[in-house]
Amino acid sequence: MKFVYDFTEGNKELKDLLGGKGANLAEMTNLGLPVPPGFTITTEACKVYLDSGDEPAALRDEVSAHLSALEAAMGKKLGQADDPLLVSVRSGAKFSMPGMMDTVLNIGLSDKSVQGLAKQSGDDRFAWDSYRRLIQMFGKTVLGVDGELFEDALDKAKQAKKVTVDTDLDAAELKKLVTKFKKIVKSEAGRDFPQDAREQMDLAIHAVFDSWNTDRAKLYRRQERIPGDLGTAVNVCSMVFGNLGPDSGTGVAFTRDPASGQQGVYGDYLQNAQGEDVVAGIRNTVPLADLEQIDKKSYDQLMQIMETLETHYKDLCDIEFTIERGQLWMLQTRVGKRTAGAAFRIATQLVDQGLIDEAEALQRVNGSQLAQLMFPRFDEDAKVEQLGRGIAASPGAAVGKAVFDSYTAIKWSRSGEKVILIRRETNPDDLDGMIAAEGILTSRGGKTSHAAVVARGMGKTCVCGAEDLEVDTKRRRLTVNGHVVEEGDVVSIDGSTGKVYLGEVPVVPSPVVEYFEGRMHAGADDADELVKAVHRVMAYADRVRRLRVRANADNAEDALRARRFGAQGIGLCRTEHMFLGERREMVEHLILADTDEERENALKELLPLQKRDFIELFEAMDGLPVTVRLLDPPLHEFLPDITELSVRVALAESRKDHNENDLRLLQAVHRLHEQNPMLGLRGVRLGLVIPGLFTMQVRAIAEAAAERKNAKGDPRAEIMIPLVGTVQELEIVREEAEQVIADVERTTGVALKLALGTMIELPRAALTAGQIAEAAEFFSFGTNDLTQTVWGFSRDDVEASFFTAYLEKGIFGVSPFETIDKDGVGKLVRDAAAAGRATRPDLKLGVCGEHGGDPESVHFFHEVGLDYVSCSPFRIPVARLEAGRAAS
Ligand code: PEP
Ligand code: MG
Repeated sequence: MKFVYDFTEGNKELKDLLGGKGANLAEMTNLGLPVPPGFTITTEACKVYLDSGDEPAALRDEVSAHLSALEAAMGKKLGQADDPLLVSVRSGAKFSMPGMMDTVLNIGLSDKSVQGLAKQSGDDRFAWDSYRRLIQMFGKTVLGVDGELFEDALDKAKQAKKVTVDTDLDAAELKKLVTKFKKIVKSEAGRDFPQDAREQMDLAIHAVFDSWNTDRAKLYRRQERIPGDLGTAVNVCSMVFGNLGPDSGTGVAFTRDPASGQQGVYGDYLQNAQGEDVVAGIRNTVPLADLEQIDKKSYDQLMQIMETLETHYKDLCDIEFTIERGQLWMLQTRVGKRTAGAAFRIATQLVDQGLIDEAEALQRVNGSQLAQLMFPRFDEDAKVEQLGRGIAASPGAAVGKAVFDSYTAIKWSRSGEKVILIRRETNPDDLDGMIAAEGILTSRGGKTSHAAVVARGMGKTCVCGAEDLEVDTKRRRLTVNGHVVEEGDVVSIDGSTGKVYLGEVPVVPSPVVEYFEGRMHAGADDADELVKAVHRVMAYADRVRRLRVRANADNAEDALRARRFGAQGIGLCRTEHMFLGERREMVEHLILADTDEERENALKELLPLQKRDFIELFEAMDGLPVTVRLLDPPLHEFLPDITELSVRVALAESRKDHNENDLRLLQAVHRLHEQNPMLGLRGVRLGLVIPGLFTMQVRAIAEAAAERKNAKGDPRAEIMIPLVGTVQELEIVREEAEQVIADVERTTGVALKLALGTMIELPRAALTAGQIAEAAEFFSFGTNDLTQTVWGFSRDDVEASFFTAYLEKGIFGVSPFETIDKDGVGKLVRDAAAAGRATRPDLKLGVCGEHGGDPESVHFFHEVGLDYVSCSPFRIPVARLEAGRAAS
């Protein structure tokens, strides 16, 4: 196996092997762009190293061969005393993990070669600054020395000279700093800073391999659902310098605005600096457009390259570049992260430019981005007190209590507080705090700073570089224009405008929701650009999707909203939701009935109410299917709480105040009390045990349908039986239901076509689906109960009990109640669907568990050939989009 690839040997398709950075460096090299020469060590080598604790036997020789070729190309040797070749050693995994892993620059410098570099560059200061950076980075990332020690020493040196920026330290001071840094290394790491260049390089390569498994990298991967066994590639690249004076510099650029998608010149530039300075937001950058004044030749070349890249990648690219004494070098490119809104806008722009087709456009967006766009925003008409303004780095409206460190962010959010994490700038150690916070606010750094990049990736609101804000993390406060915001004060931040407010600003629905609600039209001249883009992408999805999308809705209001959002029917009407409130007492009468007469009276009372509910629902969904599920939950849910009632009865007893009713109630509550209600008297079991209950519901459905027909409506009711485990249960209920329907047809004179089907939500039902299909015209997979029963996880308890531990241990990356467990629960769904269809080829198949609105699960349901998914009204657009993506 080959473990090392020259940049000229790879291409952008080799991300698995060369990592994203390596693959794209190779692609740019082969496009003829100015990339400093170098080579990439593969992820395979990393995997061997991580598995065995040692690098593959062949690696050393391969690296030597590539290094020799590099040295020949550059005309100098690594670490050569009079004119050293210097290299950077950078990580680069398949998926970008910004700032998560390690990088070491300036490898090849030593006490001797620093002199050579000084001579060759004619710049003493530069040479010593490069050397101190190497020791600092190497000490921290390779030898594990606390980075603060170097920072403190640097700060002291600046204080001693009464300057504030690094560039004001001269060669002599930097030389002293080098001595100091070497001492720190010696005392902290227990070894000297290595003077041998190859040893530096080898150790740095190992450190990059090791950085794959740091805690923060693991946490990031879990968040982003990146598999833990991919490993990272290592890029060894000849150094170019952005810190060789004012005609040098470094920057980051986007081919279009990652926040809005607009085309233009976006990015940040920092004169006389090395790359890490920009990403870390250490010094404030200037907008990329200013480069035109600073160095027109490089600027023009960069614009040209950006165009080449966008046409080549057919997508937004982000770029890191360095200018060394007027010569432009490309250090990295990749398809850039973007906000949810920008993703939609860019997808449609690229279609308009003829760069991609509609099917490809669908792959450029996803359901969770659409869900983000449906979040509310700040009310423009609200009275606000603006504290300041920064850069709109990641959109959204976030409100919370100000906290100034990650620890507090985590602690407070665990106790239920909403917090805004405020930092001068963030670094990878802040990741946990950023996850815990509603939003992130920084006073330094541009759109490409750590805070901005990571927040965008997480879909979290972020305002960065709000320079007026003076953030004092030690005293836990921020000061701005005479205002002081202390820890715990509420602030609101708007990631779409960059505005920062004091106090809680009220929020309003997003334009995308207004559009789905029909209150905003995509065709209007002044329609929001985003709304237009969403409208077009939804049309692409609707054109290609095979899965139909229905709603879980129990009342006319939800049904109408679902219809506006594009629902093609109701997949689940939970009738138990119709028995709440004042009707609860009627159910109580039903349960407590001692005689047939009492029970029948109770049912008679309920019948007209149920019928009215269904009439409204059928009217709202006229012409579309409505699946009505007969009563499901355990009966005791309709009775008073056992403890409260016992106390009430006991108190009354002690007062010798007998209340017959309460006593009877208490007896009934005791009788119906179950240790495991979820596995108890519910669903079809209720229908079989309480005579007349299901038939009352069927009658209400049938009479409602007849009435709608008489009113010239087009009701399409389907009756669904829950919690079936065997075909016999279904057969009994079916027979009774058919009699009732026939009776209603006779008395009303209206012919009714009511489909009868079942939920498949117990393993036994799935396993005997072939038999069950004999008595069912449709199946709807109840993946909530199916997940509960297949795993043996109580759906009401697990999330709060041991799921965190399971997620932390990587047993699953996401809760199986959220995303379908394809191998277990999913297998049952797949097999039951096939068995059902084998019995009854026209069997209609759907899913109505929570998974019906989950992006990843929708793809699975498409794949196993279901006819529809059903989800809550607000998730319908997401399900439509994902169904389209699955089919394209
Ligand atoms: C299910 O179990 O997936 C289902 C839809 O029913 P409920 O959530 O009402 O139990
Ligand atoms: Mg269920």
